[in-house]
Amino acid sequence: MKKVSEIFEKARNEKRKYLLEPEAKTVCVEYGIPVTKFMIAKTEDEAVKSADKLGYPVVLKIVSPDVIHKFDVGGVILNLKSSLEVRKAYSQILSNVRKHKAKAKITGILVQEMAPESTEIIIGATKDPQFGPALMFGLGGIFVEVLKDVTFRIAPITEADAKEMITEVKAYPILKGYRNQPPADIEAIIRILVNTSRLVMDYPEIKELDLNPIMVYKKGAKTVDARIILE
Ligand code: ADP
Ligand code: MG
Repeated sequence: MKKVSEIFEKARNEKRKYLLEPEAKTVCVEYGIPVTKFMIAKTEDEAVKSADKLGYPVVLKIVSPDVIHKFDVGGVILNLKSSLEVRKAYSQILSNVRKHKAKAKITGILVQEMAPESTEIIIGATKDPQFGPALMFGLGGIFVEVLKDVTFRIAPITEADAKEMITEVKAYPILKGYRNQPPADIEAIIRILVNTSRLVMDYPEIKELDLNPIMVYKKGAKTVDARIILE
């Protein structure tokens, strides 16, 4: 795919080992992986215009090749409900990042829709030196961090494989729905897994991919943060 190849090429030319969030999310969109709607702003006024267009609440994030973990440096501000809050957050993020690294190159500020809270899942891909790309699936938060309740498959995977991955984690009943919790859109998760598999098979230069978290709803899903690391 032309757009995807161009993004990888640009990163290579700029000697970057990983894609910026808007780049990674554009790659996702090209592969049918749903992400939060986003726009890039270069000025405070542009940020407000973007937020007005996307609809409130929005999230602002730093876009910089010098910042990998955006939240840790105060580069992410969530749940902004008005243009005034967007303006404040815009300058706050710039000053936070400058404090962290005075010479950080700043590409812009990402304005994106705030994804409503829901069940969080994580989909990842890593490369096994022997078997090539492998996919990982799990539920977010304590399920992956504390309980290590995750499952792996060597790519490429079929829809049936994806379904198996989803149903074999211990936390599956949470996705299936319980008490007042409606069932999550399992078909949407299957599509993301299969599309991620296609993506990593098509682009061997992907060393690591991380869709973390993905909010899963009764209908549909939204990737909130996407990271792609290159060979
Ligand atoms: P980092 O580079 O630090 O991983 P993230 O983009 O993941 O930054 O943002 C940090 C956290 O903020 C996410 O893990 C998520 O909990 C929350 N978050 C980020 N973007 C959104 C969004 N669009 N909607 C809702 N929550 C978000
Ligand atoms: Mg993140």
